[in-house]
Amino acid sequence: MENFTMLQFFEWYYPADGRLWNHFKSEAGWLKNIGIDSVWLPPAQKGMHGADSTGYDSYDLYDLGEFDQKGSVRTKYGTKSELMDAIAAGKEAGLRVYMDIVLNHMGGADEKEKVLVKKVVPENRNEFISEPHEIEAYTRFTFPGRNGVYSEFVWDYQCFSGVDYDALNDETAIFSIQNQYGEGWQDVLDLENGNYDYLMFCDIEFRNPHVREELKRWGEWLYENLGFDGFRLDAIKHIDPHFFNEWLDHLRGKYNQEFYTVGEYWSPYDLESLLKCIETTEGRMSLFDAPLQGNFYKASIENSDYNLCTIFDNTLVQVHPELAVTLVENHDTQPLQSLEQTVEAWFRPIAYSLILLREQGYPCVFYTDLYGAEYKDHGNDGVEYEITLKRLDNMEVLLHARKYLSYGLQTDYFDHPNCIGWTRQGLDEFEGSGLAVVISNGEEGGKQMEMGVRYAGKVFVDLLNQFEEEITIDENGWATFKVKARSVSVWAEIKNLIPSE
Ligand code: CA
Repeated sequence: MENFTMLQFFEWYYPADGRLWNHFKSEAGWLKNIGIDSVWLPPAQKGMHGADSTGYDSYDLYDLGEFDQKGSVRTKYGTKSELMDAIAAGKEAGLRVYMDIVLNHMGGADEKEKVLVKKVVPENRNEFISEPHEIEAYTRFTFPGRNGVYSEFVWDYQCFSGVDYDALNDETAIFSIQNQYGEGWQDVLDLENGNYDYLMFCDIEFRNPHVREELKRWGEWLYENLGFDGFRLDAIKHIDPHFFNEWLDHLRGKYNQEFYTVGEYWSPYDLESLLKCIETTEGRMSLFDAPLQGNFYKASIENSDYNLCTIFDNTLVQVHPELAVTLVENHDTQPLQSLEQTVEAWFRPIAYSLILLREQGYPCVFYTDLYGAEYKDHGNDGVEYEITLKRLDNMEVLLHARKYLSYGLQTDYFDHPNCIGWTRQGLDEFEGSGLAVVISNGEEGGKQMEMGVRYAGKVFVDLLNQFEEEITIDENGWATFKVKARSVSVWAEIKNLIPSE
């Protein structure tokens, strides 16, 4: 089977000009040509800040840029009809389209309600520090701008387990709501802060069966309107995974579709939590390999002190390759973002070779590595920074190498802390396939590796064009493949040399 590659088609600071859906529509054909197979689009629904919302602050799930709500008809990314056109163009080009599903919380309620709550300690959500008392909470969502179209469901405090603002006393704190569906927080897998059910805004109460039914109806409506291929599930460490088991089973059963799904359980150095999540979801979804991204980050800042032989230690792709979506960066880890953990520029081609050119994992390329980005924002230190992210010069070459060459038996040479490599011995069905990769985080060097006797006498070149010289595979199928200092080289048969732009 051909290697598959996903692209995250947005970054946090993509301009709020309402043009992203159109941008995707015009890029779809090119993306397929360079070796992208599937695209993860940002959340499509109206957020609490209307045209400025990234979509991770859901206001109205049924408003995909169609109703005049929160000051705008369109969302940050465009209108509903532009989204429908974009998805159609993606499918026409042969791309699979994954929608970003944000169901942990909602924000921007239309009305206040009097609600009984108990205040909790932010660092230990299971510790209540007040008696039950009444507050005024923004928990009633009537969506007056939509006026009952598509759904007449009204969300109120029975649909939420917590809020962070009391309008009566103008107090910001974490309040656990006393509704009729459960005492305190819902059990989630993540034990950070005692219980990490609550993340922000109005936390959705999945113990309420009416909520679960409404979200299933919404899932049906979304699919019947958009016809996508799968999901990226937001913030699942703050949600009882049993809800998604039920939700995915319902949609997959009803439409008899695979609905490929990847969940965001972001715990960079905590493989155990990811494994717990996999146990609970029983293979229904893949997960982003946050631990691997964490290793890339560490390797990039520790330079030659990092032992490259450990790059896959404690990662999801090492223990569950079939459920691992591997990545170098996302919209949360990019510079100035909430979970900032940016892989330094020098290491990015290396990191991409580690996710694109190996057998294990379903790699996801980040938008800025294909398109670049420029933006300004305040960092965690309060200082404003100007950020320029350059596209990766060799991204098309790496994608090409993945699509056409990276096949067959994989042999690892992870035997030196500063220089590792591997070979892929190719498959007959992919003519000219097979390659050798060498990585250095220190000095220039080389590695003796086996390509196999069927390559004896064949001439290899570095597809990344760092070496003028050619390498001839010896009669036993071996060669010494060179690498420049702090870089990666990708060697393949000379006939595979891709003209650089
Ligand atoms: Ca939650």
